[in-house]
Amino acid sequence: MAHTASRNWPWAPPWLAHWLKALDDALPWGSGRRSLWAALIGLVLAVLVTLVWLAGRYEISQLQSELERDTADAVSDVRAGLARDVQSLQAFQAEHTRIKTWQPEAMRLLRDNPDWLRLEWRDHQMNVRHFADSPLRSPVFEWTPRPSVINEAVQSCQRARRFNGPAYSNSYYLPQAEGLGMEVMELCLPITQVGEATAYVVLTYGLQALLVERLGQTFGRRNEVAFTEADGTRLAITGSRWRGLRVFTAQQLIDLPGNTLLLRLDGRRGEPDLFPNVLTALVTGMSIALITVMVLLAKDSRRRLKAERDLADALAFRKAMEDSLVTGLRARDLEGRITYVNPAFCQMVGLEAGALVGQNTPMPYWPPEMVDEYKQRQAIRLAGNVPPREGFESVFMRQDGTRIPVLIIEAPLISTDGVQTGWMGAVIDISELRRVEELSRASQERLQASARLATVGEMASLLSHELNQPLAAIASYANGSLNLLNDPESLPQSMDDVHMALRRIAEQASRAGRVINSVHDFVRRRDQAREAVAPHDLFDAILPLVNLQARKLRVRVVTRIDARLPVVWCDRTMVEQVLLNLTRNGMQAMDRTELQDRVLVLQAKRAASNAQHSWVEFAVTDVGSGIAPEVAQQLFTPFFTTKAEGMGLGLSLCRTVIEQHGGQLVFENQTPKGTAFRFTLPAAGTA
Ligand code: ADP
Repeated sequence: MAHTASRNWPWAPPWLAHWLKALDDALPWGSGRRSLWAALIGLVLAVLVTLVWLAGRYEISQLQSELERDTADAVSDVRAGLARDVQSLQAFQAEHTRIKTWQPEAMRLLRDNPDWLRLEWRDHQMNVRHFADSPLRSPVFEWTPRPSVINEAVQSCQRARRFNGPAYSNSYYLPQAEGLGMEVMELCLPITQVGEATAYVVLTYGLQALLVERLGQTFGRRNEVAFTEADGTRLAITGSRWRGLRVFTAQQLIDLPGNTLLLRLDGRRGEPDLFPNVLTALVTGMSIALITVMVLLAKDSRRRLKAERDLADALAFRKAMEDSLVTGLRARDLEGRITYVNPAFCQMVGLEAGALVGQNTPMPYWPPEMVDEYKQRQAIRLAGNVPPREGFESVFMRQDGTRIPVLIIEAPLISTDGVQTGWMGAVIDISELRRVEELSRASQERLQASARLATVGEMASLLSHELNQPLAAIASYANGSLNLLNDPESLPQSMDDVHMALRRIAEQASRAGRVINSVHDFVRRRDQAREAVAPHDLFDAILPLVNLQARKLRVRVVTRIDARLPVVWCDRTMVEQVLLNLTRNGMQAMDRTELQDRVLVLQAKRAASNAQHSWVEFAVTDVGSGIAPEVAQQLFTPFFTTKAEGMGLGLSLCRTVIEQHGGQLVFENQTPKGTAFRFTLPAAGTA
């Protein structure tokens, strides 16, 4: 990381490059945001640097003005001290005009004031009357004879005479023992009598001692205090000597009569460091805190950005999912108002989402004739009744008025805090399903019709065979009768015969009529309605047709119907068709030359009941060929047949019909031979 950091910021020292890298990682750079962030950081840095700089400047100015104040205080201290000196000198000179008292008093004063080096009493000619040297040190003029440096004193006394008040001399250098020396200054105080200066008191000040005495204690601790000349040459100096970069300087003039001293204070205030004082430290601390907060904010915003992006991705994913759904989705609130629909739903009902969201009952996609029923349904739903899990069927209306059958699966809509906020419904358009169902129903009906036609076709030949007999009988009876009627002689005798022949003709004609009617009945009855039918009636209806074929194939048909059987609930025509198919199959299976005793048993008995129904079982048992395993596998497959003229539809139709009635069609091989087909039908009134 440090490596990449120094590569990106080659100009920066490693620690800065490192920091910049961390910042770069933390900030939520994004297209367009980079410059904003850069501007923000730049501004914050500029403000911080300015603040630190201003704080430093403020501190410096504070220190400078503090020093200026100190200097002004020092100057006034010096002035006050000098003024006091003048006063005490005046008092001294006024009181001690005689040598005897002057001398000890002068010594006392010199002892009390260490900066006083020498006191002289001079007459108006400037001759020394008396003098006293400070007892605190060696005499000041020890190394330089007083007369050789009297000049300054003389000048100051001349000034004093002129001012008629105290006057100071310029300072001058006075060499001392061991090559040392000191700067001294004279104060001349005129002693006047009747306005005329009669004598002078000359006081020699040591400037160094003056500084030490008057300012050393107070200002010397933190400053270097000095009297200087205009060019900066120090005349006397006291206080701590600081060597450092941050030295503040202030100087001020001490204007004295006859002399002007320049007082200079050099103050040092701490090392020049990064945090010069509390204010700067505070500002810097706050700056660091600000930058930290900024970095944290940036991190947070970066996290938010990521979360936002993730959310947008999730939303896009959800949107794509919703758009690709073919199932319509519809959400409703607890008042039944639509709160959401997906594109599939809009497409289904042919309305825009905008026209649906916010709608309440009656919905624009409700068929007008169903509004009352749907309102009721909605009221039940809103009362908190959960709809069936497997959904319910309903009908919607498209904008163009077409009706669409739909399956609605509805579930409560639960918010994140577990409260139900409405209902979410998945709406499936089942019109296609309905169409397919309708198609298959129609094709099944067609199949049944053609199967029936096939049966009828087959029967037509039987019919002709069967009708031949009565017709031939009718014809011969008719011929016989005609012959009898042609012989008028024997008419009275033959009248009985003609009667009998006509009765026979009528019998045979009605037999032929019954045969034809039975076929007609079978073909004509197409209605699907279910009804309660006695098993007996079912057998009776098919027996004439069965017997037709049975006679042809020399089969004996036996019916066994249990007593007190319940009536069954069925589509009579279809069940007759089933029985007919099964009997026909059974008889055909027995149509083999080696088989002599051909018996077909038709049976109806009570079957085991279950919770909903009691059942009646019908069985058609033959003693025919039986069913081979390979045939058994495909027995119910449409168009499977082993017969040359067979269609292979009979059994598949039979099973469909029985299953539509809720029953079952099974078969089993019989021992020693033959097959039994059994099916069940529900007893009427037991549902
Ligand atoms: P089809 O009678 O037109 O052949 P079916 O679906 O009624 O069509 O019967 C299919 C086949 O099942 C028959 O071809 C026959 O081989 C067999 N089958 C049906 N019933 C019997 C039966 N009682 N005994 C033996 N085989 C049978």
